[in-house]
Amino acid sequence: MKNIIKVFKFGGASVKDADGIKNVANILSKFKDDHILIVISAMGKTTNALEEVVNAHAKKTGTAHELYEAVKQQHYAIMKNLFPENHDIFPIVNDTFVEAEWVLDEEPFEDYDYMYDQIVTIGELVSTKIVAGYLNFIGATTIWLDSRDVIASDNTYREGRIIWDKTMHLINSKVPKLLEQSNFVLTQGFIASTSENFTVSLGREGSDYSAAIFSYCLDAESMTIWKDVKGVLTADPRMFENVSKLDRLSYKEAIEMTYYGATVIHPKTIKPLQNKGIPLYVKSFIEPEGDGTIITNDVDTNYPPIIIIEKNQALLYISSKDFSFIAEHHLSHLFSLFDKYRIWINMMRNTAISFLVCVPNQPERLKNLFKALEADFTVAKEEGCELVTVRHYYPGLIESLKTDKVVLIDESGSKTFQMVTKNMPIMRRKDI
Ligand code: ASP
Ligand code: MG
Repeated sequence: MKNIIKVFKFGGASVKDADGIKNVANILSKFKDDHILIVISAMGKTTNALEEVVNAHAKKTGTAHELYEAVKQQHYAIMKNLFPENHDIFPIVNDTFVEAEWVLDEEPFEDYDYMYDQIVTIGELVSTKIVAGYLNFIGATTIWLDSRDVIASDNTYREGRIIWDKTMHLINSKVPKLLEQSNFVLTQGFIASTSENFTVSLGREGSDYSAAIFSYCLDAESMTIWKDVKGVLTADPRMFENVSKLDRLSYKEAIEMTYYGATVIHPKTIKPLQNKGIPLYVKSFIEPEGDGTIITNDVDTNYPPIIIIEKNQALLYISSKDFSFIAEHHLSHLFSLFDKYRIWINMMRNTAISFLVCVPNQPERLKNLFKALEADFTVAKEEGCELVTVRHYYPGLIESLKTDKVVLIDESGSKTFQMVTKNMPIMRRKDI
């Protein structure tokens, strides 16, 4: 009989130090009779630190090795808290770190995104080796799986696109067998492999998506994301008081929330789960007994207002130079350029001769877009904006959210209100 498989995903915050890893082991010990595919991210803020290494190497600042050494030392310090001195995990992890050193020893590659993926993904490779090593050390037999052997992607570096039929075949020919040998199989989030066997990442915060890929291919019974919050909340608790946990959500509501920038789950996570009706639990690794949030095929109920704020947005004002209307062919041309330069449109509006769009403020990508537009359009950019989305809003709430803000554009639909805002400049005496 086929085993019932659960998929668990633990993010960087859950494995940020030795106590975190012990806590993860403790949670897993309660599921020792289940067959679990465990997906783990890089520890704590490792991915950010490795991005700094890549930038230093690309810009030849001369500090790349030093920054990399600091990342290594952080990992060794954690390992010393988990393992005896002569444990064979030390040379294993060291060998993995050496792989990026080879890249750093050479001239920076011309293809930044390719180089980025070869260095940054080391974070997941070492974290999973350490956590699997620790589980085995305490007697919870765990097989370490290289996700690059089973997740196939195209070569869009830093944003790999999954080749589903190949991935489906690889996962099913390997993972169920491994889960027969051992109840726990542990692998990396965020990482896949191209057909030439190069490492490719799936985009920042992509580990949730990896877990959803495994869930889909394995027909998992459920997927659980273990977080440092009690579940999906009505707003970010770092920005708002009195937030409450949503006990249940429909896939539809969850996908809308993540689309508008709720960072609790990676936006690509919901679709594979919805397609197979696999329930997604979002639970706390700090209070693992709590119910968390369950996301399923539920019929939508009455949700409370849900507020999502996406920072670091830019508002672009694009208008045609010759006064021709922004319609038909202009729009399709504009959309194709946004796609080409991988600029994600969060909100848009068009008038007779102008087109307004709110996009993430990624200066490099926008520079390329502006170059492509400059012959036919004038473009202006307003930086430092926030995109505020309120689902299930009521008017009084919107008014309170506008306090101390300048609203640049807004739009209200029956369920969703959105506005692009900037903080009101503080008037100082000498300005008056
Ligand atoms: N470690 C990667 C990141 O920080 C992937 C993830 O955490 O989901 O973006
Ligand atoms: Mg995450």
